[in-house]
Amino acid sequence: MKHVFLSAFVFALLSAGVVHARNDAIPETSPAPNVAGFIKSIQSDNTSYYTAHKSEFFLQLAKGQYPSATVVSCSDSRVQSNMLSADPEGKLFMVRNIGNQLATTEGSVEYGVHHLHTPVLMFIGHSRCGAISAVNGDYSKEAPAIKRELDNITIGKELSGIEGVSANVHNQVAAAMLKFADELKEGKLTVIGAVLDFADDLHQGAGKLNIINVNGETDAKKLEEVEKLISAAKPSGSRKPKKIPAKKND
Ligand SMILES: [Zn+2]
Repeated sequence: MKHVFLSAFVFALLSAGVVHARNDAIPETSPAPNVAGFIKSIQSDNTSYYTAHKSEFFLQLAKGQYPSATVVSCSDSRVQSNMLSADPEGKLFMVRNIGNQLATTEGSVEYGVHHLHTPVLMFIGHSRCGAISAVNGDYSKEAPAIKRELDNITIGKELSGIEGVSANVHNQVAAAMLKFADELKEGKLTVIGAVLDFADDLHQGAGKLNIINVNGETDAKKLEEVEKLISAAKPSGSRKPKKIPAKKND
């Protein structure tokens, strides 16, 4: 199977080369040695990953997914699921876009909440977010597709940096609470807003995931109570599949 993927990749590189030779308007792709080196590093890391796990681990994953949370994070390469979980496989239903928004990937978020029934929906902003900086400035010259996505981020121009990041997270939580009002009312869903702060802009520690909103609650004192509850809880992984009662024979 590895060879099939590699062949497809080489074929894609060669095809790209042919297209470029015929059309000077298309810029050169990255030099092939760099690309090959990158693919090699991915393959090497993947080999280390799958050889470190027993096949039962993957067979269990193949049976289905029962994630505990739908997580909407920014696509920023500095934000990754291993910052949130040592074992994210089957636990986190990840949705990513620029600016960790509900609107851009609403269908994916809905899939997590309605089809996978995750009891948690979490929006994660991060320090030094390029999408927030763009919204604070003039992005009118961006490509239409990028502009459309940035238009969903409605924070005041006066809010920049980590304040803008936090305001956007609060906005996303508010929008999700409206969309999933029934699930919230029935106690089936908790919507959480958080900031992954690798720049330590919030002065709580570099790299800390700071919870700044729980179901619309943003008061620091009340969130401290929530943190106490969380501290007292036992860590848990992905949910267990619900047992489906055996059908009685008619
Ligand atoms: Zn970002």
